Amino acid sequence: MIAKSIHHFVVPFYYQMSVQKTHAIVIRTFPLGEFDKIITFYTADFGKVRAVARSIRRPKSRFGGSLELLNYGTLLFFERPNRDLQIVNNFDLIDAFDGIKADFDRTVYGCYLAELIDAIESERSINRNVFELLRGAFDTLGDVHDITLLARAFELKFLDLTGYAPQLSHCVVCASPVLNPTLLFSSRLGGLLCTGCADKDTNAVPIVRGSCELMKQIRKSDLRYLARLRASDLNHRELKSVLSSFISYHTERTLKSLKLIENLETLP
Ligand SMILES: [Zn+2]
Repeated sequence: MIAKSIHHFVVPFYYQMSVQKTHAIVIRTFPLGEFDKIITFYTADFGKVRAVARSIRRPKSRFGGSLELLNYGTLLFFERPNRDLQIVNNFDLIDAFDGIKADFDRTVYGCYLAELIDAIESERSINRNVFELLRGAFDTLGDVHDITLLARAFELKFLDLTGYAPQLSHCVVCASPVLNPTLLFSSRLGGLLCTGCADKDTNAVPIVRGSCELMKQIRKSDLRYLARLRASDLNHRELKSVLSSFISYHTERTLKSLKLIENLETLP
């Protein structure tokens, strides 16, 4: 008891905070007060971390532009026990992904991937594979030919890594093989339905077998090698419809940047 009370009086609170260091990607920024910002990072070692960057909006901020959205770097932060808002100590930029930011469409897709992670991952649920997936996607997004296929691949791999993996091999209700030429996909039940189970979800949508095979190939393929996969316009449409309805069903949220993407894709 004595030791504890001495500790309490002698040690100022900021010394009780430990400094943590990790690789991190900026997935959201939000102004706070007149000069600060709340930055949400996805980190390699701590999962999602929210932290205040003090004075970042002052003209001569020591952070400069290092904490812009989608930037990747080494983060030092003060960890405040039992608080969900940490304090940014330093951020050393490793990659600002200029190839993404030089192009409006790629930037919108980059923001969508970041927003998806922010929506699904809870704070301090640590998943290094998710971090590597995001970093790999940003590495690729700057010069990939088929941006939308990359987004679909990211969605599918992200769902797999976070425990939502859609069932694409057999019926999600009865586990029997799915033999019908046109498949039925149920977002609510989490995968394919066989003919006998079709009535278990009347909102299930039909997809061609090729779209299902494409999703299975994406699962096995590294993001860098997506160009080797063949995707028709129909496959693109079906993957988009299946994965976005699956995501919105399971996150119960409509993502802002997804709306922006809808607008992009309907432009002439
Ligand atoms: Zn079935």
